[in-house]
Amino acid sequence: MVVVMAPEATQSDIDAVVELVQTAGGDAFVSRGVSRTIIGLVGDVDQFGALNLRSYSGVTDVVRISVPYKLVSREHHPNRSVIDVRGVPIGSDTVTVIAGPCTVETPEQTLISARMAQAAGASMLRGGAFKPRTSPYAFQGLGEAGLRILADVRAETGLPVVTEVIDPATVDLVCSYADMLQVGTRSMQNFTLLQAVGAADKPVLLKRGMNATIEEWLMAAEYIAQRGNLDIVLCERGIRTFETATRNTLDISAVPIAQRLSHLPVIIDPSHSGGRRDLVLPLSRAAIAVGADGIIVDVHPHPSVALCDGDQALTGEDITELANMVRTLPELLGRGLTPAPQPAATP
Ligand code: PEP
Ligand code: MN
Repeated sequence: MVVVMAPEATQSDIDAVVELVQTAGGDAFVSRGVSRTIIGLVGDVDQFGALNLRSYSGVTDVVRISVPYKLVSREHHPNRSVIDVRGVPIGSDTVTVIAGPCTVETPEQTLISARMAQAAGASMLRGGAFKPRTSPYAFQGLGEAGLRILADVRAETGLPVVTEVIDPATVDLVCSYADMLQVGTRSMQNFTLLQAVGAADKPVLLKRGMNATIEEWLMAAEYIAQRGNLDIVLCERGIRTFETATRNTLDISAVPIAQRLSHLPVIIDPSHSGGRRDLVLPLSRAAIAVGADGIIVDVHPHPSVALCDGDQALTGEDITELANMVRTLPELLGRGLTPAPQPAATP
């Protein structure tokens, strides 16, 4: 059961509901989103019904949810959520392009990649400082030095930064530099990490596990929401199938399905799904056509010497082609491209 609080509900309204539920022997989890707070109730639903919660100050609605992912379900939230990342919206009205290098390598490579991202129509910068690599011998990322580079490039370009966090112990550190926390495919069921980013006050980009069903993906989002953070964007990035021609198989149906089941925005990663530069543009077109709320794309000034995922990074002419596509296709489908923020003026 979910209690939906009015946007103007006060902290004492919220506390009163939590206390009532606890007195009735239940548990209450408060989750804050951009526009409202919801409270998930765990315990005897019939007993909660008898509490007449709807009559309490600040309560808008009390909804019985039929699916196991209560807080991220669309059943209590028919309008789709728009998540704000340092002033950049990700949601149903616009198409948001996020671009940048797979991995932060040097200040120059990151700044050039950010300029390429802007040229491609991006309003956010991606880039990994902590890399979850399959091989322990592969480049593991620059760590905090990489986060510093991302923050410097944000100051220079105005682009908010999304970067991966791979471990609960570094969530606070990543939060001190990033605007959005990425949970990667390999971490989607790292439940302690999900709980840690759920307790953080930054929006989260939750990639689908490469072996996860849509329901398992939504349950991972529920872990984050249950710890208090409803600012979650889902990212379909391809799943494992028997096919070997691509790195992963982009599950395009996952977008409308997840959007129907959950109020959270859903974006697509056409780079990690195909794993091939020549597929990034066609898959980006497919993403926008199917109704994804954005795309996250790898770019690199010199893909042949990239320390990670050079085969799928866009460069040169491809950037112009992506820019032309994202400036025309979303509009044909009734939504605009999210504009890029301007860098703050230096005093
Ligand atoms: C990434 O975006 O850099 C990444 C590692 O992606 P994924 O978790 O989807 O493999
Ligand atoms: Mn990568």
